[in-house]
Parts: sequence; structure tokens; C-alpha cells
Amino acid sequence: MSILAGVDPEIARAIELERMRQQNKLELIASENFVSKAVLEAQGSVLTNKYAEGYPAHRYYGGCEYVDIVEQLAIDRAKALFGAEHANVQPHSGAQANTAVYFACLEPGDTILGMNLAHGGHLTHGSPVNISGKYFKIVPYGVDTVHQRIDYEEVRRLALAHRPKMLVAGASAYPRLIDFARLGEIAKEAGALLMVDMAHIAGLVAAGLHPSPVPHADIVTSTTHKTLRGPRGGLILCRAALAKAIDKAIFPGIQGGPLMHVIAAKAVALKEATGEEFRLYQGQIVRNAKVLADKLTATGFTLVSGGTDNHLMLVDVRGQKLTGKEAEKLLDEIGITVNKNAIPFDPASPFITSGIRIGTPAVTSRGMKEDAMLVIGEIIAMVLDAPGDTWVKEKAADMVKELCSQYPLYA
Ligand code: PLP
Repeated sequence: MSILAGVDPEIARAIELERMRQQNKLELIASENFVSKAVLEAQGSVLTNKYAEGYPAHRYYGGCEYVDIVEQLAIDRAKALFGAEHANVQPHSGAQANTAVYFACLEPGDTILGMNLAHGGHLTHGSPVNISGKYFKIVPYGVDTVHQRIDYEEVRRLALAHRPKMLVAGASAYPRLIDFARLGEIAKEAGALLMVDMAHIAGLVAAGLHPSPVPHADIVTSTTHKTLRGPRGGLILCRAALAKAIDKAIFPGIQGGPLMHVIAAKAVALKEATGEEFRLYQGQIVRNAKVLADKLTATGFTLVSGGTDNHLMLVDVRGQKLTGKEAEKLLDEIGITVNKNAIPFDPASPFITSGIRIGTPAVTSRGMKEDAMLVIGEIIAMVLDAPGDTWVKEKAADMVKELCSQYPLYA
């Protein structure tokens, strides 16, 4: 019996159930992934015991000589991986990273030009229910009605009309490449700072499979747990001139002591991200997404923008006479996990939606390649085309089980 099971059998049981869920279901949530055993080990280490307010060599606590090594390695690796002048690896999450940037660079009431949540943006880019939408004047931009891609001309028009202090780019549900060079030009012309939130695509950027925002943005934020395949957390990259303000905004601005065990795990993930294996992995994510998108299109689904350039796709399920909520539930019943997602200009409410978001990072971490994507596409089509058919559901559930046992997690 494990030590944990002896001390707290209820928590041990819940962890075991979650481990089995991850093993026995197909994880197609675009923002999730499976970290390496090395990342897990670093995060479950004695570093969780240490207080280390401040930054390496400038701490408010004694005994920081070893956590200083950890944090400095994480900083150096983040800078090297993304070619950035400065890195802060302390944000507890992507939302904290974004909030710190606003705190460092803006005053309440300033204007932010941010991507509309309903068109693929993130809550922290100006949603009225987020601190960003409450403290700042938000001007949203989005995708065009025809191609469902970011309308850069419209972004420029809005930037010149509203003169925002900051242009925020990056998305949670956008399946196409983002032209950061163009957004950088627009920001310059409008006299705005450019912040890019590359949370979803950080792994692709690290592998050179998505153009990097770093040369074009004043500040780049990210989560570390999506395509980058690290622990749950955030990081901020910026130009040297903004380093002091960003560091002050994280601590003492909006956070207390850093989570040193998580920073160690970030350092491990950043090291893993420099290797050839990681580059091949990211390439496979993109190929898998393309194959799955093509398969779904061939079986009668409509994809937002007609396909994907990255790790995710948005499937419009109205053609199947379903809502996003219904599609999510139907797939969950047979062992496939996705999330309902608004599509651009969605007539349904955010709680119902007309779409689902599908991503390939997690299944690719299990070793699945194009052939497995064709099977997944077939399963999704079977189930969503015949929602009331019990025989189809049983067959689909069997196919999911078979794929899961073929590609064991943490084998
Ligand atoms: N930024 C983007 C683009 C995201 O997609 C997300 C999460 O999904 C976040 C920020 C927030 O990250 P976290 O959940 O770590 O706060």
C-alpha cells in the first residue's frame, strides 16, 4: 500500500480513479496534456516545503541557495528556448501571468484591444466577468464572417480609432496561424504595447512550427501545461526594458511566495522542449490535427475556418442537428472527452453553444499517429450521426477502449 493510501485512503482513491480515467478515456481537450514522469517527479518534490519570496539572489527568506539554482535554471531555459530578453517563471497560472502584465503596464480605465471571447479569445483578454473587463475599457476584435479568420484590417481600423494602450493577441479556440508580425506593425502604428498570450501554441512556437511572437511583442505570456507539456502554471517573457516592472507586478504585486516545486517542474519541461524528440512530437500534433480535421470534414462535419493549421479544430455540429452541449455529452458517454465551445457568431448561448473544440496534444503524447486519428474521426462521426443508436454507442465505446489499451499512459 502507498504511504498516501495509508494516511488518506479517500484522496488516494480519488487520485487512482482519475489516473484510470486518464488511461481509459480519449482526452481531446485542446488545452490538456500528459506531462513526463520527470516533470511529475519534480513537482512532487521537497521543494514544496520552501518559502522563497523574491527572485534568485534577492530573497526575503534564508535557505534559498538551492531553490535559487532551480529558478535560475528555469529562467535561463525559458529565455533560451524562446529567444527572450527576460523571463519570469513565477506566475501560478496563465490568468495570473496576464493579470500581472496589466498591473505592470496599465492604469485602471486604460483601453485594451483584445480578441473577443466569442471568437476564440480568452476570458483574461477583456471579458466583462474577468478583472480585465472590470478594470479596463475593452474594445473587442474578432474573425471575419466569410473565412472565420482574424480580420487584421478590422484590428488596424479599431486600433487607430480607439488608440488602445495595449493590443492583446492570442487565443483559446482559434485553429489558424496568427500573424504576430502584422499585429506588431498595427500596435506600433497605433502607439500601443503588444501583449501576446501564446498559452495554447507555446509548444508549437518552441518547436518552430508556429511563427514566434517574441520578436514582435513587448510582452509574451503563456501557460506551461498545454502544448508545452509542463506542469500547470504560467510564465512571462518580455523585453529587458520591461523586466523590472513585470517582476514587481508578479511579486509583490499580485502573488506571494513562488511555488518552487512547480518552477522546478517548469524547468524540466523547458529542458525537454529543447530536444529533437519534442520537435518531432509537436510535428506529430499538427499532422494528427490535420488528419482528424480532414476525416471529420470528409464525413460531413463543418469546421470553423474550414480546417486547422495548429493543434486544434472547432467543429460546428449544427449540421448534425446537435448543440455543442449535446455533442460533448454524447462523446463523454462513449469515453471521448471534449468541450463544448462557442463558434464565431454563435446563435446559441455560451452554456449550450453550436460547437465542440477538439485538440490532439494529449492523444499525441500517448504515441497516437495518423492511423489512430482516422479511427477517432470515425468514432466521433458514428456517435454524432446516430445519437439515439445504442448499438452504435456500444461499438464506439469498444473502439475507444481498444485504442486506449493500445496506447497506455505512463507505460
Ligand atoms: N490564456 C489562454 C489563451 C488560455 O487558453 C488559458 C486557459 O485556457 C489561459 C490564458 C489561462 O490559463 P490558466 O487556466 O492557467 O489560468
